[in-house]
Amino acid sequence: MRVKKDGLMLCDDCMIVACNGDTSGIDDDARVKEVEEGLDSLGPCLVSDFDIEDGSGIHEFSWSRCDCCGDSRGGSRHEFAILEEEDDGCADSQSSDALIRSV
Ligand SMILES: [Zn+2]
Repeated sequence: MRVKKDGLMLCDDCMIVACNGDTSGIDDDARVKEVEEGLDSLGPCLVSDFDIEDGSGIHEFSWSRCDCCGDSRGGSRHEFAILEEEDDGCADSQSSDALIRSV
């Protein structure tokens, strides 16, 4: 897998929408827009880079700015990476469990 950029830190809202495409947990339309615009700018090759089993890539609490929506409120952050785009899609498109968004 070729990684274009890693170490992206996403806030809870962005992580959930990136993983599930589910904005129903966010009750503020302006906030949904922020998250969706952030995800759009990161592109379709965004993959989760954290491990729920061993906790790697998961930061329980951080003040670091969310690399997706730009939110800097304190909270948990989950690491994501962007894979290299190839002609037929993302570099790692074969392993579908790593690919959380498709075009
Ligand atoms: Zn965010």
